[in-house]
Amino acid sequence: MDIKKRDFLVGGALLGAGAAMTGEAMGQSGTVFPAPQQVFLPVNGSAQRFPVRRIYCVGRNYLAHIREMGNDERELPFFFAKHRDMIVQHGGTCAYPGMTKDYQHEIELVVAMKSGGMNIPMASALDHVYGYAVGLDMTRRDQQSRMKEKQWPWEIGKSFEDSAPCGTIYPASAVGHLSKGRIHLAVNGQTRQDSDLAKMIWNVPEVIHYLSAQAELKAGDLIFTGTPEGVGPVQKGDKMTCRIEKIGELSVTVV
Ligand code: MN
Repeated sequence: MDIKKRDFLVGGALLGAGAAMTGEAMGQSGTVFPAPQQVFLPVNGSAQRFPVRRIYCVGRNYLAHIREMGNDERELPFFFAKHRDMIVQHGGTCAYPGMTKDYQHEIELVVAMKSGGMNIPMASALDHVYGYAVGLDMTRRDQQSRMKEKQWPWEIGKSFEDSAPCGTIYPASAVGHLSKGRIHLAVNGQTRQDSDLAKMIWNVPEVIHYLSAQAELKAGDLIFTGTPEGVGPVQKGDKMTCRIEKIGELSVTVV
């Protein structure tokens, strides 16, 4: 299949390929089963929604968290991915996953892209940012640790059902670009993570620059930018309340 044809198909699946063609209609006519539903996030102050394409996450981006995990402080940023149907919306629930006894929260600033490209220069990286949201990189820590020991992919520790809660997107046109501000997570009202975006090792333009060297970024992509120190386990019934200055709240309950 040539590139143009592939792009058309991918674009069609993501953008709905004409508003008249719903997933169900395509299932009846052109696809062997109903096409997966597009995933959207609400946009603050707008009736329009943000259609999600891909989800990338930065591995390590706050010194105190790197130290609490005993990792190398000098490494360049690296990335892993989640899938868009792993998103949980504000007010939703995360099912406690199987295959773990150490299910942990990681609050993160999420960057929402309105355009992209490859090898994006740091100087123009923010031109591609639509807005920001509060996110949670939910993690099976015991599985992630096991994979690190074996030098296997992190997939099982990071990419699973309900592993990517994400709040409302706040447009940069309204709140500006974020390089500082309090980032705070409480479990059942008790503070677990409390830091500042200014402590990110790699700022948003740098993250976009490095990620776009390895993958082509496009409108709809979300980038989870790493977590500060204080990560820890949650249990069924726990309510996580996450806040980042200027961009509201994300609340999710473990069930
Ligand atoms: Mn993380």
